[in-house]
Amino acid sequence: MPKDFLKGVHDSYDVIVIGSGLAGLTAANTLARQGYSVLLLEHHYQLGGMATWFKRRGGHIFDISLHGFPHGMIKSCRKYWTQEIADSIVQLKGIRFENPQFSLRTTFNREDFTRQLVEKFGQSPEVVSDFFDTARKMNFYDDQTTTTRELFERFFPGRGDVVRLLMEPITYANGSTLDDPAITYGIVFSNFMSKGVFTFQGGTDKLVTQMRDEMTRNGVDVRIRSLVERIEVSRDRRVTGVVVNGRRIGCRAIVSNANLKTTILKLVDRSNLDPEFVAETEAVRLNNSSCQVYIALKPGERFDDCGDLLFHSEHEGFDVEALLSRKVSSRTFSFYYPETRPGSDRYLIVSSTNANYSDWATLSEEDYQASKQDLIETTLDCLEQYVPNVRNQLDHVEAATPRTFEHYTRHQQGASFGTKFEGLKVSQELPEHIQGLFHSGSVGIIMSGWLGAVNYGVIVANNVDKLLTPTTATA
Ligand SMILES: Cc1cc2nc3c(=O)[nH]c(=O)nc-3n(C[C@H](O)[C@H](O)[C@H](O)COP(=O)(O)OP(=O)(O)OC[C@H]3O[C@@H](n4cnc5c(N)ncnc54)[C@H](O)[C@@H]3O)c2cc1C
Repeated sequence: MPKDFLKGVHDSYDVIVIGSGLAGLTAANTLARQGYSVLLLEHHYQLGGMATWFKRRGGHIFDISLHGFPHGMIKSCRKYWTQEIADSIVQLKGIRFENPQFSLRTTFNREDFTRQLVEKFGQSPEVVSDFFDTARKMNFYDDQTTTTRELFERFFPGRGDVVRLLMEPITYANGSTLDDPAITYGIVFSNFMSKGVFTFQGGTDKLVTQMRDEMTRNGVDVRIRSLVERIEVSRDRRVTGVVVNGRRIGCRAIVSNANLKTTILKLVDRSNLDPEFVAETEAVRLNNSSCQVYIALKPGERFDDCGDLLFHSEHEGFDVEALLSRKVSSRTFSFYYPETRPGSDRYLIVSSTNANYSDWATLSEEDYQASKQDLIETTLDCLEQYVPNVRNQLDHVEAATPRTFEHYTRHQQGASFGTKFEGLKVSQELPEHIQGLFHSGSVGIIMSGWLGAVNYGVIVANNVDKLLTPTTATA
């Protein structure tokens, strides 16, 4: 008999959360704390969505998306999760850039960037200060038509090297380009610049275990290997339940942490939606996907201090197309030292590159395997500049592609960072089209990444609370 992952679930809940990415987890926890009965349904065997990890023989644990997030994560984790979770967040001080235009090391905060922009790039302190202030003051209600390209052109005309310093890490962090609205850049860049780049000491597995424990304490009913196939909507356009693993479960509200386009265009029957809203959803552009190479050294082998995050590029200038190309010329290396997981003695490296889904989706199995092997070999060739003996020290190496991300997260096109800016409006307006149906998860660039996803989970949970407050009842 196959295991029944829904054994013991109730017939109905106040809220069903579809998906356990950081937004789904945070929404579920917040709603349970507010006193609602909450069912969290995750199709994968592990919680966390893209905040995830995997283990390999020899005691190696690889983190997928634990490269760095802004300081604001400490406050969000303390407020919406636990003090214990917040206490494990530590700063990464060694951020490096190595490319044909410059070589530098920074703590990636306003003070150090100002120093480097003035001393190394010859910019005037007034212009730099004005740039930082302008970026910091940007908010959602500002002008949304100015592009990031125009913002840079205003402050640093003709300075491709400055643009590279300011933009390359943000492109890696959320897939945004010079043609995206400047407010998305301003908000995300300023979040990082406030105090630098942070990580979770102990690894993603520790974080997600602590989140699971907290949800259990608050009464969330958590189910893995539970794929939601359909969202049920009444004739008067209210959610009434979901169909999961072939079984119907009722609810008063749903928070979908599944991909925005999947939620609206696949999980809901289109006859429940206005054609204009369907068209608007169809027009939402997904963000790009990623490739990664995971490299573990043999027990006892080590590398010297290479920094924590290294933005490496052989490309002459900053060029988004080059960053996405299957012919890789730019990579971000995350170096993981034993301190990343106190108690471990392992040295690991994860190389990440932004990638186009279309470049990988149509390859034959044979070409796909060959391309993955090529990705591994060229990554190791590149890494030898920083870890000269890496090929002899290797214990394990493997690669992930946009196809891997699509498989595990069910994101259309393996989108690593949600949608472009227009996705935020569609996500926010969804409850106006179907009462009780909310979306929360990486959208609009601003609400992407670990911090964006956690904060959006809280915002949406509070909107659900506003809807349910007048007649709160438990199942
Ligand atoms: C390679 C890579 C590196 C990254 N690095 C960083 C970084 O260093 N810092 C940072 O801040 N961010 C990083 N990110 C981005 C960050 O990980 C994501 O923005 C964030 O984790 C997304 O959270 P989310 O809530 O949107 O949900 P997701 O993580 O997208 O999770 C959605 C969940 O929903 C589940 N699901 C989908 N459909 C269904 C269904 N029908 N039924 C049940 N479950 C379903 C999926 O299985 C998944 O678990 C990275 C992402 C990638 C891919």
